[in-house]
Amino acid sequence: MKPSLIIHGGAWDIPEEAVEDCRDGIRRALEEGWKVLKSGGAAIDAVQAAIMVLEDAPAFDAGYGSHLNLDGHVQLDAIIMDGASLKAGAIAAVEHIKNPILLARAVLEKSEHMMLVGAGAEKFAEEHGVPMCSAETLIHERERAAWSRCREDSHAAEHHLGHESGTVGAVALDTQGSLFAATSTGGTCCKLPGRVGDSPLIGCGCYADAEAGGVSCTGHGEGIMKIVMAKLAIDLLHDHRVLIPHREKNEQPLSLPQAVADACVRKLALRAHTTGGLILLDHEGNPAAAFNTPRMAYGYVEPGGGFRIAP
Ligand code: ASP
Repeated sequence: MKPSLIIHGGAWDIPEEAVEDCRDGIRRALEEGWKVLKSGGAAIDAVQAAIMVLEDAPAFDAGYGSHLNLDGHVQLDAIIMDGASLKAGAIAAVEHIKNPILLARAVLEKSEHMMLVGAGAEKFAEEHGVPMCSAETLIHERERAAWSRCREDSHAAEHHLGHESGTVGAVALDTQGSLFAATSTGGTCCKLPGRVGDSPLIGCGCYADAEAGGVSCTGHGEGIMKIVMAKLAIDLLHDHRVLIPHREKNEQPLSLPQAVADACVRKLALRAHTTGGLILLDHEGNPAAAFNTPRMAYGYVEPGGGFRIAP
């Protein structure tokens, strides 16, 4: 089977001055993930490798450099899902985990559960040797400054101008036909302590079913949860008959994955009245991305092996 990889670094109003950092992070993450797949490695290792690069890069709202919550802490959420077994490993509201994707993977592989949160998740990390860190080391100065301005004034988008950043995600298919999807985030700026968004929730911020495809979402979590967007995409990939009557006669024919991604974003706007985006691979590895924000940071490996990177 031909391997395939698509990743994202969030759908937001990415300002011009942040574009280069986003592109650089996406390129490095594609390189790491593709290195695994190209040499016949496993999809789970490829999504992990790509997500770790993005978590470590402060340009994105995941791992180091995440937005701070109302109390001034970084609280992280992540999920990884196996398209063969439909089992997921997810964690939420952790504050001392350097790479949340590693903890999500430990939950997937070493527990009978699908999701652990807060203190229980961190205890599991300690017991299974997942690298921990001090809460301080996850904080980037830029985020502390933005948080202070939000506290003095009211929380406002202007305080984040120049460094609006987004959740990260990856979907990979390997030569053996294994399909994995993953998402990792620091959530929204000035969120209430304990708030969990769509990202680590199975079916909302992530889903993988080897019979249909894999999806990772980004954007306004409260809206994405309302329409269970990742599962919506998978259901449309499974049975796309509902999409066909809605095509305009003179519209350019779209690939099925692209029609599905577009339909999900339309639904997010029409039914949840909000913004976001998603990336996906169908079960054969055909990629698609869609968003209704000004920009989305994402990239995938083209059939010839070259990287397509946006914005
Ligand atoms: N969906 C994330 C959340 O609501 C935020 C994002 O994608 O940037 O936590």
